[in-house]
Amino acid sequence: MIDTHSHLYSKEFDADRDAALKRAIGNGVSQFIIPSTDMSDFDAMMKLCNDYPGVCFPAVGLHPTSVKDDYENELAFVEKQLDLNRFVAVGEIGIDCYWSVDYIVQQRDAFERQIKLAERRNLPIIIHARNSFAEIFAILDRVHNSNVKGVFHGFSGVRDDYLKIKEYGTFMIGVGGVITFKNSKLSQVLDIVPITDMLLETDAPYLTPHPYRGQRNESSYIPLIAQKIAELKNISIEEVDKITSENAKAMFNI
Ligand SMILES: [Zn+2]
Repeated sequence: MIDTHSHLYSKEFDADRDAALKRAIGNGVSQFIIPSTDMSDFDAMMKLCNDYPGVCFPAVGLHPTSVKDDYENELAFVEKQLDLNRFVAVGEIGIDCYWSVDYIVQQRDAFERQIKLAERRNLPIIIHARNSFAEIFAILDRVHNSNVKGVFHGFSGVRDDYLKIKEYGTFMIGVGGVITFKNSKLSQVLDIVPITDMLLETDAPYLTPHPYRGQRNESSYIPLIAQKIAELKNISIEEVDKITSENAKAMFNI
């Protein structure tokens, strides 16, 4: 299995990062996409990926909640890094109207410009969308073409959001711990999402799946998410592993 969204470099793992990675590998999770969020965590992200080549794959981007007054500097940093190193995606990027809309104008600008950075390099984008599907769609409607591909990470939308995403034709849905929550309506939405459009992800250390909800999330819990998808689609967990791994390899070119 492939965890397509893990912040394993974050300080929550300072005490046991290697052990957490080994636990995940022991549970059948063999590769990890590791997105940074801004300059402040970039070095830690790169160190992890350099320590585990072929296992941890780096993505660089300016996260919407990190868009502040200095966002031009941050965007210049992303562009410079894309020229210096090999990344599997631009991310995570997007729009977040949940935490704050103080910088919404700058968020829109940063998202659109990073889509174009990715497009020019033929890289997928990792989209963070929180209370912001209308904002995201407005930008994609303007700039999307067949070279713009990616994943809606931690997908939290409704059926109409998925149907709209499907129209673009080049995006997948990142499915994480929320699918295991007892009160989640996500399963009903995922009913209409074929598994060929799904990627597994944890978003560790956040969004911990049941029955570990409330504790730190880690990639070793990916099988809990795969199992839930297997039940939903009435197929084996091996089949979920096979198809979502193929999806991830095709999306991130790994
Ligand atoms: Zn994330």
